[in-house]
Amino acid sequence: MTARFTVLASGSSGNATLLQVNGFGLLIDCGLHARFLGARLAAVGASWKSVHAVILTHTHGDHWRDTTLAQLRAENIPLYAHPAQLNHLATAGPSFDPLHRADLTRTYADGQPLELTPGLVCRPVRVSHDSDPTFAFRFDYHDGGDGPAWAVGHASDLGCASEELVDLFAGVDVLAVEYNHCERMERASSRPAFLVERVLSDEGHLSNRQAADLTRAVAARSGPGFPSHLVQLHLSRDCNHPFLAESAGRNALAEFNPSAVVITARQDVPARGVTLTRRPDAARRAEPQSIPFAAPAFAPSAFRTQPQPVLPGFEVA
Ligand SMILES: [Zn+2]
Ligand SMILES: [Zn+2]
Repeated sequence: MTARFTVLASGSSGNATLLQVNGFGLLIDCGLHARFLGARLAAVGASWKSVHAVILTHTHGDHWRDTTLAQLRAENIPLYAHPAQLNHLATAGPSFDPLHRADLTRTYADGQPLELTPGLVCRPVRVSHDSDPTFAFRFDYHDGGDGPAWAVGHASDLGCASEELVDLFAGVDVLAVEYNHCERMERASSRPAFLVERVLSDEGHLSNRQAADLTRAVAARSGPGFPSHLVQLHLSRDCNHPFLAESAGRNALAEFNPSAVVITARQDVPARGVTLTRRPDAARRAEPQSIPFAAPAFAPSAFRTQPQPVLPGFEVA
């Protein structure tokens, strides 16, 4: 079994992460122009031919691109999204319709496990962000041994954490979470007041302090040595500094898991990849206790039919 988790790009100008499992390639978000995303794939030794599915966290413009939907159609790559997100994409660009008509759109639902390739199960859980709905994902790989061989938690855009999210990420090997801004830098910035309030709100983005609190809570809940890697996502170019985020992350891990590796993802180059393998002590990891496997919150008739209002400046985070 070979598996690898690599952030190709992260930040308000575009987001994409590649999860590779036994030759199956999954993109989490596709928020770069198809040509640039192809170059990022090439930079990590992959290509569009290595991509077999895309799963979308939400529909803000830094998480998908119309040219990339056209690329998915050309390459016959399916797109997984929440039905309300698909409804939004249908009104947002010309390349969705050909993808949909080619039967390349798939749906996921809040709390419902989804097997993307044999052994790889994704659990989407809704988070608070001003593109509704937005999801965090937990990926577990089952190799037939006790419990999952490895697990990854991914939450790239969220305004506040929750007990549900801490539980979802319990015992992951890789915790990938946004460390968006330094609250002090955000408040001192020259950005318009409405944008500062939007970023700081419970439907905006996590500050370094909030993300560190989440990291600490997950580490406390996860069992000795988990997570082995913290991957910091979606850093603001203007209102954060990689040094500040990294130091907040290291401090958060100091009590429960000081030997964890911290990787601070970048906008302009792929981050260092993480190889995923079954650890000898994998069976000792904590697992989520209360993942809600309830029916989706939406009924089909209630799906959004109007495009989401574009929040002025939402691309700046
Ligand atoms: Zn974003
Ligand atoms: Zn967003």
